[in-house]
Amino acid sequence: MKYGTNNPQRASNVGAVVVCAGKGERSGLPYNKVLHCIGRKTVLETTLDAFLAANVTRIVAVVSESDEARIRKLTAQYKGVSVCLGGNSRGQSVLNGLKALDGCDIVAIHDGARPFVTAKIITDSIAAAEKYGSGIVAVPVTDTIKSVENDYITRSLPRSELYAMQTPQTFLYDKILAAYESTRFEDCTDDAEVFARAGHTPHIVNGSYDNIKITTASDLFRVFSCDRIGAGFDVHRLESGRPLYLGGAEIPYDKGLLGHSDADVLIHAVMDALLSAAGLPDIGVLFPDTDDEYLGIRSTTLLEKVCEKIKGAGYGIINVSAVVIAQQPKLAPHIKKITESIADTIGATPSQVNVSATTTEHLGIIGNGDAIAASASCLLRKL
Ligand code: MG
Repeated sequence: MKYGTNNPQRASNVGAVVVCAGKGERSGLPYNKVLHCIGRKTVLETTLDAFLAANVTRIVAVVSESDEARIRKLTAQYKGVSVCLGGNSRGQSVLNGLKALDGCDIVAIHDGARPFVTAKIITDSIAAAEKYGSGIVAVPVTDTIKSVENDYITRSLPRSELYAMQTPQTFLYDKILAAYESTRFEDCTDDAEVFARAGHTPHIVNGSYDNIKITTASDLFRVFSCDRIGAGFDVHRLESGRPLYLGGAEIPYDKGLLGHSDADVLIHAVMDALLSAAGLPDIGVLFPDTDDEYLGIRSTTLLEKVCEKIKGAGYGIINVSAVVIAQQPKLAPHIKKITESIADTIGATPSQVNVSATTTEHLGIIGNGDAIAASASCLLRKL
């Protein structure tokens, strides 16, 4: 565990309230989303690590009764992290957390389900609170926001004035505690609003578009679905009197590759990379060389079928990277054409496809001009 590696000791005594008491029903999980794992850590542990990295070592996690035992066990590994029970609303939970931090000068209030907050954001928010009395993390909205009544747009709001509020929202401890104790907060959706109702003017600091709050099942899907890598390899013999296709492009040469299809070794490697990434069977299974349907078929046609399968499995292609291993012919003059042909076939831009070429320094069957090999990697993303 790293403590305060990014920041000097502060003069003020800073605490943090991390609100984890929500039921998280919109996440679609049968348990609190702060207990969901990102890699080897839960959302809550990832959040706590950010605060510890920002040198905030007095933290109260506000939890519901049903999660108390599990979160106490989880936070036992952290020095300076305590647990208290929340209330019937977010505001009541924050107030309970504030009361548990008696003696702080500054308090950062944070959603437990914002694990991508950085130590810098937390530090900036604390610095603003020290200077201005509050530091509300926020980002300018990128969408156009409109008021809607009964499905009709009634008003466009000027985007230049609009910011989306994030957390932490950091305050002078005495002022935010007094605000919560003296103000009606049940209908407030954030702490800045409670602070404003008590007569203060909250001050914002820059957040990050990555500092998302995990709320719905689609947030979880976006955050936790991993990109998938795939690899493919193929080799074909060269024979005189056949056309040479690489990546779907015809390359002028007196030999071509021998195979059941057009033997486009590069496309074969690319197809196996894509199928592998999507967890699908390889081309030997999908397009067996014992099936006459594929006799002499252009590999670009097969690649199109593979792309349909990838799409059907819910994946989009991020990029393809391939290397052709050939002693002859020299491929450098044809790389652009090969790249564009693959990109066109898979419905990608040329920037998503990279093809390089190498020789084997005259070694082996490739080096003596009897064969060409290709290897390919790709990255897919669940759409
Ligand atoms: Mg092959």
